[in-house]
Amino acid sequence: MDRMTKEQRSKCMGMIVRKALYKEGFRYLCQPTKVGGKKMPGHPDIVLPKYRTIIEVRGCFWHRHEGCRLATMPATNVEFWTKKFADNVARDKRHEDEWAALGWRVFVVWECALKGGTCKNALQLLTLFVRKFPDWVRCEIGNLNDCGVIVHAHSTMGGGMKGGEL
Ligand SMILES: [Zn+2]
Repeated sequence: MDRMTKEQRSKCMGMIVRKALYKEGFRYLCQPTKVGGKKMPGHPDIVLPKYRTIIEVRGCFWHRHEGCRLATMPATNVEFWTKKFADNVARDKRHEDEWAALGWRVFVVWECALKGGTCKNALQLLTLFVRKFPDWVRCEIGNLNDCGVIVHAHSTMGGGMKGGEL
């Protein structure tokens, strides 16, 4: 098993994103419990108060990136894993709803976007979307099937696909 533990992997991926943000001059909070004196639910990975933006770095396996080659199903204990994954996905959705209700927008960076040759590109797109584009409430960036990084931007929660391939 060459897989890192969940903690190791997300720590490592989160570090890549935090370093890139710092280099670009962003100031951020990591897993804050409060922002501006107000309670922040769900321990988001990275918070950019100035841009009212939350960045979530998600492992494709644990958080079930839909259609992603990294979101495999283990061959044994399928029942256990199915339940575990469903819980993870439900928890992510619940947190996103809570953040949206508080007026935060969410940018999900999937692990596959940070792997291999697309990492730099993904990080550039992330900073571009956060800094230059005010008109989205939810973005996702991933690299499904090694086809290059793709950003999906939504102008409303849960609907209205707006952005596209870059
Ligand atoms: Zn993925």
